[in-house]
Amino acid sequence: MSADNLDALVVTHLPNIFYLSSFSGSSAILVVTPSDATLITDPRYTVQAKQELAETKAKVQIARGPLLMAAGEQLKAIRARHVGFEAARITVVQKGTLDGAAGKRTRWVAWDGRIEKARAVKDTEEIQTIREAGAIACAAWADILPLVKVGALESDLAAEIEYNMRRKGASGPAFDLIVASGERGALPHARASRKAIKKNELVVFDLGAILRGYSSDLTRTVFVGRAPREVRRCYKAVLEAQEAARLALKPGVHSEEVDAAARRVLQGAGLGDKFIHSTGHGLGLEVHEMPRIARGDKSVLQPGMVVTLEPGVYFEGQGGIRTEDDALVTERGAEYLTQANRELIELG
Ligand code: ZN
Ligand code: ZN
Repeated sequence: MSADNLDALVVTHLPNIFYLSSFSGSSAILVVTPSDATLITDPRYTVQAKQELAETKAKVQIARGPLLMAAGEQLKAIRARHVGFEAARITVVQKGTLDGAAGKRTRWVAWDGRIEKARAVKDTEEIQTIREAGAIACAAWADILPLVKVGALESDLAAEIEYNMRRKGASGPAFDLIVASGERGALPHARASRKAIKKNELVVFDLGAILRGYSSDLTRTVFVGRAPREVRRCYKAVLEAQEAARLALKPGVHSEEVDAAARRVLQGAGLGDKFIHSTGHGLGLEVHEMPRIARGDKSVLQPGMVVTLEPGVYFEGQGGIRTEDDALVTERGAEYLTQANRELIELG
């Protein structure tokens, strides 16, 4: 803030507010100045805000009206001139409210991505939490494998996984779980539907657990029946692509090199055009955060970053295969935080 000569910073993105203040409610604005910080929230969170901010020096202000109005009025009261804000996280209407309350003298500075950049490198406690969230996802998935058989509904399997995750301590699923069988597996982001699993289908599971605010993200693909040779070949190529990405993942490397390592393996197997998304993404307080592991991404990887590695291949009208694990960038390379069985499992 001092490098940018800011008198104040208005934080509106809730994961950033949680990161800076420990407040986990769904309605808040954090106003940070060089000397203090104020969390503005509404009366529903009076007790929670006091409890969660007890170990910080931040003040809590309970607003009776719109939070943005209260934030603007505070900026006016402390005569803040240069004010940073998260331009990409706020609507035009919200900015208008803030503007109106802060007054004409305020000079707004778009200050996006700075907190996200700090969040990308995790400390020991954050890594341990993601590791535990990963273990919950792995165990919740492995536990339901006996239920994966001909006639089972995708939505029932998703419900069982979610129930298991909560029983194992998760506060909830990190996103709408994906259970995509047969031709639905060709849609990389197909949510669980009422479709029943048939004989000789691939089933893609993509799931994650939230633990103490942090998410895990895991994908496994199984085959119901005896997998044909071509399915085995594609599955093996996806696993090899993932391992190539893990070996490429290390400090000092650009994100795009990790993506390229996975892509090269699938291209070599004649599957380059079937890999229709990027190799991975950062993982933490949000399921998708910095850094992206994608083509053209020049982010420099650092120890403490946690990213997913999730190559996949998709065949329209037939099905899909994806394997996804969460990986920690270490001093020397990368280590998986999720340990569920990666070999092709044949069921039923
Ligand atoms: Zn996923
Ligand atoms: Zn993912």
